[in-house]
Amino acid sequence: MVEIRKDYFTEKISITLPDRGVKPGQVIPQKAEKCNYCAGNEEMTPPADLVLVKRGDTLLKQTDSEGDVVKNWSVRIFPARNPVVVPNAPPSYGDSPHYSEPAVGYHYVLVATPKHDHTFPKIDIEQWTNILASLQDKVRWLYSQKGVSYVLVYVNSEKEGSPTTVHPSIQMVTTPRVPPAVEVEAETVQTSLNDLGVCPMCQVVTTETGGPRQILATDFFLAFAPWVSTHPFEYWIYPKRHMTSILKLSQKEMMDLALMLRSTLGGMAKALDSPSFTMVFHSSSEKKTTKQIHWHIEVYPRRAQWTGLELGGGIYVSDVTPEAAAQVLGASARKELAQLVGIR
Ligand SMILES: [Zn+2]
Ligand SMILES: [Zn+2]
Repeated sequence: MVEIRKDYFTEKISITLPDRGVKPGQVIPQKAEKCNYCAGNEEMTPPADLVLVKRGDTLLKQTDSEGDVVKNWSVRIFPARNPVVVPNAPPSYGDSPHYSEPAVGYHYVLVATPKHDHTFPKIDIEQWTNILASLQDKVRWLYSQKGVSYVLVYVNSEKEGSPTTVHPSIQMVTTPRVPPAVEVEAETVQTSLNDLGVCPMCQVVTTETGGPRQILATDFFLAFAPWVSTHPFEYWIYPKRHMTSILKLSQKEMMDLALMLRSTLGGMAKALDSPSFTMVFHSSSEKKTTKQIHWHIEVYPRRAQWTGLELGGGIYVSDVTPEAAAQVLGASARKELAQLVGIR
């Protein structure tokens, strides 16, 4: 049964999946020679419906056809082999207190590089720009599909060199409702816009600029460690101008974001010995009736062992203050940036 369940009385939701013969939590390590995301192994994945290929100075968008895959690609996007939502989920409706609905949606994978060991902190700025452009394309297409209320974009990156290291990829999962974490932000932004006429996150960007939690500022973006961090060394990347969606990024802003991502992820990898991390894109839903947020990226290095305080109380304990984290990450990110843009 692929279904979405909603909690008895809160907005918490879960997705339950059918048994796929993989024990929950079991990690399947990928070796480069057997990795289905690696260049040369294209036949091991479903045909890609968006393949970005560089020919000379031009970028071409192509599509695999059955038995004829595009080679020498830069980015590939195809349906996930083990999706968490499916277009044809069987009907499964239940009423409160056992509310359920079918987990209808699309789950796509963007392979960020043909090279297995080319981790996110190492991907160059040009490739990052290609990734962001492809992502924008696919997210736009997903929002045009029936029943899609939200497209959640995220990265899970395992510690470099660990047996569970996987080929760099970005997941895109659509949901028939806006995820609770985004909904909470949207409610807050909407209330503030209605009552005070200002976006609270625009105010946060102003407050954090040049302050003790700033990590890096580029032309169009600000990276900072949030005042309340749920993970040690967590950081956020916000567009400086009020922008509701990743779909609104111009080419110039995309190139600047590529520089920001490469500098901060590269900086984090050097400062923290290439930690495992999760990166989430919080963007507004494109559905007309939904509330908007100030879109941004959240990065959580996964170092913390959560206890009852976090799991049971929603209180996050950290042995690193956001101010100290910003100092460490900032120094390292600024060094990366200087090297990237050729200063010194
Ligand atoms: Zn690979
Ligand atoms: Zn704003």
